[in-house]
Amino acid sequence: MTKFRSESLTLNTDTKIPFIGFGTYLIPSDEAAAAVRTAIDVGYRHIDTAEFYHNEESVGEGIRAALKDISLSREDIFVTTKLWPGNPEWDMPAKTQEQTLVAARASLARLGLDYVDLYLIHSPHGGAERLGQWKALLELRNSKKARAIGVSNYNIAHLEEIRNAGLPMPDANQIELHPWSQKTELIAYMRAHQIAPIAYSSLAPLSTWRTAPDHHSAKTGEMRETDTTLTRIAVKHGVSEAQLLLRWGMQNGYPVLPKSTKRERMISNFDLDGFSLDEADMAEIRGLDRGDGLAWTGGDPTRAV
Ligand code: NAP
Repeated sequence: MTKFRSESLTLNTDTKIPFIGFGTYLIPSDEAAAAVRTAIDVGYRHIDTAEFYHNEESVGEGIRAALKDISLSREDIFVTTKLWPGNPEWDMPAKTQEQTLVAARASLARLGLDYVDLYLIHSPHGGAERLGQWKALLELRNSKKARAIGVSNYNIAHLEEIRNAGLPMPDANQIELHPWSQKTELIAYMRAHQIAPIAYSSLAPLSTWRTAPDHHSAKTGEMRETDTTLTRIAVKHGVSEAQLLLRWGMQNGYPVLPKSTKRERMISNFDLDGFSLDEADMAEIRGLDRGDGLAWTGGDPTRAV
């Protein structure tokens, strides 16, 4: 049985990304330092943040506190952050190649780090600037400010745009992946081009997913259903549905990024090695795919833009 707790996936650049990461979206900056400090304390060695989350400074503070208190070194923690590419649909001009480099330096300064392990373009909303942004990321990898680089929320058309331009392909694509949104065609394409999938919003089918008043996700109610398959399989293995969802992602080969502000949940979301889903479970869960995702509220980031 694979022990994901201490396992990593090796990206193209030989960078090893730990399978279990800690997500920080919607953790406000006055709470992120403590949350990240706690996550590292309970065993997480992979932290995911973004310019858009407005918590990089606090995440960096939490990482530094943990390194000091637990006697770890920078190399022990895998840190991902993301470029906000702009989004003209939201009246945010797309960043140019030069502005992308400036934004990356600003993220590093806020995090208080010399490099990140993975730097991603957060979404394909850069439009005409998309390839320029990607060229900037290639520069960042060359100058060792990012050990690996990738994209997020890109579909096949966006990835083909990079390939058709004759540029090196991303090391990873971080996308919404859970039993209701399995994206089989995109995953097959990514596998064929050595682009590692990283799963976000793994816990979206849970009734507790983003239930705080300001954590609204427009499609949550719409997608919520009464199907009991996940509950039944979780009961069969004596685990929580959250643990089932996370193990499912990793058994498909996806690093996962569970977010919680609660220590007990952080612990159980990291405790995923005491059971394994069998072929029958995996086949049954494959049947739950509903194609669509639900994490983004402001338009579907996976369509060509
Ligand atoms: P998630 O980790 O799938 O789910 C988090 C939600 O589930 C929170 O409401 C949390 O509440 C609750 N939860 C956590 N553990 C639980 C448990 N064991 N039992 C019951 N409920 C539990 O959601 P996410 O934040 O959307 O995604 C994870 C990470 O992926 C993000 O934090 C971010 O780093 C990344 N992400 C990236 C993108 C992108 O566009 N690239 C988009 C979305 C997310 P509490 O906090 O109250 O525990």
